[in-house]
Amino acid sequence: MSSIADTRCWIVGGGPAGIMLGYLLARSGVSVVILEKHADFLRDFRGDTVHPSTLQILNEVGLLKKFDRLPQRKVDHLSVSIRGRLQQVIDFRGLKPFAYLSLVPQWDFLDLLANEGQRYPHFDLRMRHEAIGLIEKEGCVAGVRVRSPEGEVSVLADLIVACDGRHSTLREAADMPRRDYGAPMDVLWFRVPRKHSDPEDTFAIVDSGHMMVLLNRTDYWQAAYVVPKGSDETLRAQPVEPLRNSVAKLAPFLKNSVRALATWDEVKTLVVRVDRLERWYRPGLLLIGDAAHAMSPIGGVGINLAIQDAVAATNALASNLRNGNPIQETLLCEVQQRRLLPTKIIQALQVQAQNRLISNALERSGDSPEFPAIFRWLLRFRPVRNIPARLIGYGIRCEHVRTNECLPKT
Ligand SMILES: Cc1cc2nc3c(=O)[nH]c(=O)nc-3n(C[C@H](O)[C@H](O)[C@H](O)COP(=O)(O)OP(=O)(O)OC[C@H]3O[C@@H](n4cnc5c(N)ncnc54)[C@H](O)[C@@H]3O)c2cc1C
Repeated sequence: MSSIADTRCWIVGGGPAGIMLGYLLARSGVSVVILEKHADFLRDFRGDTVHPSTLQILNEVGLLKKFDRLPQRKVDHLSVSIRGRLQQVIDFRGLKPFAYLSLVPQWDFLDLLANEGQRYPHFDLRMRHEAIGLIEKEGCVAGVRVRSPEGEVSVLADLIVACDGRHSTLREAADMPRRDYGAPMDVLWFRVPRKHSDPEDTFAIVDSGHMMVLLNRTDYWQAAYVVPKGSDETLRAQPVEPLRNSVAKLAPFLKNSVRALATWDEVKTLVVRVDRLERWYRPGLLLIGDAAHAMSPIGGVGINLAIQDAVAATNALASNLRNGNPIQETLLCEVQQRRLLPTKIIQALQVQAQNRLISNALERSGDSPEFPAIFRWLLRFRPVRNIPARLIGYGIRCEHVRTNECLPKT
């Protein structure tokens, strides 16, 4: 374990951004401490979609074989069912080098990275350690205040990286201006048992003002039921039965299985937000992942952007951190400059999809939308199908690991 004194970089938050950043920095020879407020990674209904951009990173650092051994389901296309008619809308099969996305429990993915990180002497992951505030000196962030099982401690560091997610404590503490792009919906997540006779696809179902996405997790469906923004409290004031009925109406093959959903306690609400910081850094502090930009669940890209941020941060910072050089603001600015455009473009597309497709689908209470014929015709052509698949699978300006120490020895 690194001692507090020789640790230059403290990472707050052990989600995909924080654990990947910690792993890459430790492997680059940088002493790093990661603080995670929970005791383990076992939380259901977080991002579970690992996209080609992340598979590519895992391949570059030599972890793909181990990742492949995790329980997972590979998905090479996504479909939408409208009025009972299933239409493939995203087709990953034309992408290279990875032509699928993996549905893998996030805790397994994080456990893999954390276990691999433990192989490096500079990696120090501290569970049940919660950052509760920043220490500032002359306008610079100089450290972090931490609540640990042993009590409260203050630690000083050259760099604090906030990877503490969409409700970031450090973002609040640093008073960073944030722009909110709004969302018309929230999402209810729950599990429904899956029968062998159920469809194989991972798909969205749209009908008469209701919308649900079903992720095939082999022995169960991970269901994402879309509701108008802010309706969660009203829904939860009623029994869970109307939700079950609505699920059965949207997906008649779930009519019996959905009875397993007994109470609202089994339903987790994702309050959808799309927001972005104007500046992702201050002297001594960098924010990445959801802490810098909360993503809409559309496309399931949240984990993957967080990982891309972590790779960009490692590329920009590792050698200066390792060599004891000061971490100038220009270096932190470099990370934001590198990641801003990809984030902006994906968020803009998500906001368009939310406002045009999802709002529209939720507002139609009597009739169902239909696929425009031109859309169906265009989707027959591989290059057209490749465009949304590439945006979702690889995003824009894909990151590659550029720190030699992180690449396998040949
Ligand atoms: C219900 C739900 C479903 C989602 N579905 C998908 C999906 O299907 N696909 C997808 O790609 N994305 C999905 N997302 C989004 C995705 O989970 C996030 O975009 C992604 O995990 C962001 O990674 P991150 O590391 O930036 O933040 P997070 O994953 O939020 O990790 C932040 C970590 O910091 C810890 N933490 C928070 N505050 C503190 C503190 N003060 N001190 C110490 N630790 C702290 C948290 O416990 C957490 O482990 C979903 C999110 C939710 C909530």
